[in-house]
Amino acid sequence: MQKTPESRTWRVLNLEMPIDQPESALQEAACRVAGIDRESLRGLRIARKSLDARRRGGERRLRFVYHVDLIADGGYSSVVFDSAVRSGKIREVPETGSLDVEALPHRSGLRVVVVGAGPGGMYAATVLSRAGVQVDLVDRGGSLESRGTDLVTFHRTRNPNPESNLLFGEGGAGTYSDGKLYTRVDHPLELACLKELVDCGAPPEIVYDSRAHIGTDRLHRILPEFRSRLAAHGVRFHWNCRMEGMEVDAGAPAKVTAVRTSLGSLPCDAVILAPGHSARDTWEMLLAEGVELQAKPFQLGVRIEHPQELVDRGRYGDAGLAKQLGVSAYNLVFKGGGGCPPAHSFCMCPGGRIVASINEAGELCTNGMSNAAHSSGRANAAIVTTFGPREFGDGALDGVRFQRELEKSFFEAGGSDYTAPAQTATDFLARRESPDPGRTTYTFGVCPGRVDALLPERARDAIAAALVRFDRTIPGFAGPEGILVGLESRSSGPVRIIREPDTRVARGFSNLYPVGEGAGYAGGIMSAALDGADSAFAVLEA
Ligand SMILES: Cc1cc2nc3c(=O)[nH]c(=O)nc-3n(C[C@H](O)[C@H](O)[C@H](O)COP(=O)(O)OP(=O)(O)OC[C@H]3O[C@@H](n4cnc5c(N)ncnc54)[C@H](O)[C@@H]3O)c2cc1C
Repeated sequence: MQKTPESRTWRVLNLEMPIDQPESALQEAACRVAGIDRESLRGLRIARKSLDARRRGGERRLRFVYHVDLIADGGYSSVVFDSAVRSGKIREVPETGSLDVEALPHRSGLRVVVVGAGPGGMYAATVLSRAGVQVDLVDRGGSLESRGTDLVTFHRTRNPNPESNLLFGEGGAGTYSDGKLYTRVDHPLELACLKELVDCGAPPEIVYDSRAHIGTDRLHRILPEFRSRLAAHGVRFHWNCRMEGMEVDAGAPAKVTAVRTSLGSLPCDAVILAPGHSARDTWEMLLAEGVELQAKPFQLGVRIEHPQELVDRGRYGDAGLAKQLGVSAYNLVFKGGGGCPPAHSFCMCPGGRIVASINEAGELCTNGMSNAAHSSGRANAAIVTTFGPREFGDGALDGVRFQRELEKSFFEAGGSDYTAPAQTATDFLARRESPDPGRTTYTFGVCPGRVDALLPERARDAIAAALVRFDRTIPGFAGPEGILVGLESRSSGPVRIIREPDTRVARGFSNLYPVGEGAGYAGGIMSAALDGADSAFAVLEA
């Protein structure tokens, strides 16, 4: 779909279509709403597609809701079109950003060390390397292949490798995930970042599907292609290489001249720091090096798992519709009330599995992953509430201390071998142990445990109130088939590295760029990727 200078793109918002209507009917419907005649149409793109499964007036009428971009002649005008623009029924779509080499300012001769090969670091490396910058990408974890072996060993021996695990290594924390790719931000580079993944083998629908996900199996085919495209632009990879310090020219501002790693020093003109939400020792090192950090609120709660069919029935009315529409997902919010803080579901994995999302030994934290087919027959999600410095203290690493204490207590309650304490939703609400909580997909297995008593009271009350609320949307959610598995403590990071809003550098430094989730500026794959890309542009423009 080529856009000529004489054309303009208009977005038709919230176009509802019955679920059995073919997509080919979209063009006619969108043109009718926009008042654009077919002869003046230069192209059409689905900007977003979502399924609306809400009940209205007690009745459920499933429908797809589209945002459709129509490209029309630059000077196009008609009575219906002009009125649609005036009334806001359609709006012009701003130019989107690009990661193409030709579109980037060229900065050969610049050397940048990128710390962390998660989405934040990988997308920063993409932008920089295409602009001719010499990039050294270091990650404490292994390449995809050796990281896989480390994880198999963890599952066999119940002994984690603290350097290369489900959180650390090529691709970062999202490598073993559901690979959900939606953000809540409208960012000019979003489309360009998604298209990179499509070029590496992701399905084309990810650019518009409001529930776009890749799945762990597909991610493992995409990442090697991503890596080889970076290598083709000269990126040097340093796996199993931990950043341990910095050589700094003191001054105001200070300047990093080299990154000290477990494999030696790497001289640099700038550093992109993308260490993710679990690099606790790295935050300690940064504090010691004079980088300003502060505690920030983070999400705390449990994973809950149900039969997928129970969720499909609640969402679609008829579980059989999952064959046509795909397994269902949910995004549930309890706004708080009755003395309870708000709580919400997060990172829902339809047809997925619960995994032990840890890097350090002796701690327990869960998360969810799935393969592309979403075929496990079980649905899991986090149910979390927010904890902030008011609850755990305002020292920079107080949130980390608080996380650690809870993760240790869940680890011990599970028998100190990564078995997780579990409780049915019914028993959680009744505050009693479940003699047999049932089978879950959690990789290390579960045992009876008082999840309600292990959680801080504030989290327990918020989750209990949320369960009751969610049961109204998905009947059975808070019943005996809902199994709570604890603990979920790393849905977001507890630390922010303070950076200057305009230049994106760490306060007090001229060339240190903290990005992504570990820096406190992202909360998922896409937001970390966008944050990394934005800071790479800031490096090019500095
Ligand atoms: C199981 C699981 C499922 C998830 N599912 C989703 C999902 O479906 N959708 C979604 O949007 N998000 C999901 N997330 C969250 C998402 O993965 C993160 O938000 C995202 O990866 C953050 O990107 P990042 O680049 O900031 O950091 P990360 O991806 O965490 O990458 C940081 C990297 O830095 C490296 N590192 C750390 N310290 C050092 C050091 N000192 N030296 C060298 N290297 C270092 C680490 O090894 C790691 O590879 C999931 C997370 C997990 C754990």
